[in-house]
Amino acid sequence: MSDLREKVIDSLDSNEDGNFIFFNSITSLAKKEGEQVYSILLNVLTQLEFSPEDAKKNWNRIIEHKEKLETKLSHDISLMTAVCYYFSDVEKNINTPAIIELKMLEETKKQSHSDGLTGLFNRRYFDEALQGEMNRAQRYNGCFSIFFIDLDNFKKLNDTYGHQAGDLTLKVVAEILQAMKRTEDTACRYGGEELVLILPETEKMNALVIAERIRKKVEEAVLEFEGKTFNVTLSGGIASYPADGKEAQELVHAADVALYQAKESGRNRIFIHDFEKRHYLRIGISEEVQVQSVTENLNPKELSTQGKNVSSSGILFESPVAFKIGSQVQIALSIKGQADPLTVNAQVARVESFDSYFDIGVAFLDMNDSGESEFSKTLLQNLGIS
Ligand code: GH3
Ligand code: MG
Ligand code: MG
Repeated sequence: MSDLREKVIDSLDSNEDGNFIFFNSITSLAKKEGEQVYSILLNVLTQLEFSPEDAKKNWNRIIEHKEKLETKLSHDISLMTAVCYYFSDVEKNINTPAIIELKMLEETKKQSHSDGLTGLFNRRYFDEALQGEMNRAQRYNGCFSIFFIDLDNFKKLNDTYGHQAGDLTLKVVAEILQAMKRTEDTACRYGGEELVLILPETEKMNALVIAERIRKKVEEAVLEFEGKTFNVTLSGGIASYPADGKEAQELVHAADVALYQAKESGRNRIFIHDFEKRHYLRIGISEEVQVQSVTENLNPKELSTQGKNVSSSGILFESPVAFKIGSQVQIALSIKGQADPLTVNAQVARVESFDSYFDIGVAFLDMNDSGESEFSKTLLQNLGIS
């Protein structure tokens, strides 16, 4: 084998999916050794013969289409997928047995990526997709979240209604997940009765809003098997890049910790990792906002306490009583000079105990699809801040 061919193969071997270092190493190799590098590269990848000039042109177009496809799919694709896509869907007039073979290989790969029972992506794909998302977020200084789901008391459900009823439940939850997720989100079966959603370009609080919708839908679903009806609930943990982890394993662990906390605090709820470290705008206020009542589980507690901090995503206040972290509450706020109190659905995100009171932080749960809280807009307007 020629030295140059070996060098090209070496670069290919060190190529991680979507790794732009590889593209740079090919470009610098071509600068040093001449444009036949591109002929060799395409020959190694497809067995096709191109002149250096044509090879370079095709290579640049492969990269260009790879990037376009990645933007469309919101996740990285492998170099082989990009080459296949280019020669079979873009540059259709070049269709050789080698390309057809590659395409079949990619399709087999796709099949090996899906879970037989639920039709979701499998664990292997999740690992790849998570790494891809991480590379992308690092490259573009972006963010993303993962939402881990574990079905509640699933063993008991299996024991009571049978394993087949359990399988059906998994399928139904997977369908709900598919239907409720956004196009760009990736839904996977992580294992057993554990599912996971990757949410690209999604901050923690927006992920919580989406996760909450899914939790609620699952809770409301009536399942039926052999004439018997039953329900299932899920617990969830959310972790976000880069706040909760800069490595895939670290992020998975963070989501797992949050999930564990959700189980510990009573199941059928979603926890986000490290509530305290949420980066959100805080506007210090003194007397303008009074918390009048907080309703937890249809149980209103009169409070009349002053808001300590209000932000575009939540409020911090003192309370003589504690609330449960993760519980859903409805909170009524009155504003100086305003006749009617404002009410909002929220989630208790933080509880800190002091000698004679608790500091309670709640996150507003009324965000629209672009992550803005309608409530906080009204609130800030009423305060004359916006
Ligand atoms: P928790 O609320 O703490 O998560 O309780 P759990 O019973 O769901 O927890 P645990 O992890 O102990 O049990 C999970 C059960 O899920 C055990 C296993 O029998 C069942 N399971 C895992 N995969 C499948 C599957 O593919 N089909 C069915 N029917 N059951 C499964
Ligand atoms: Mg489990
Ligand atoms: Mg479980």
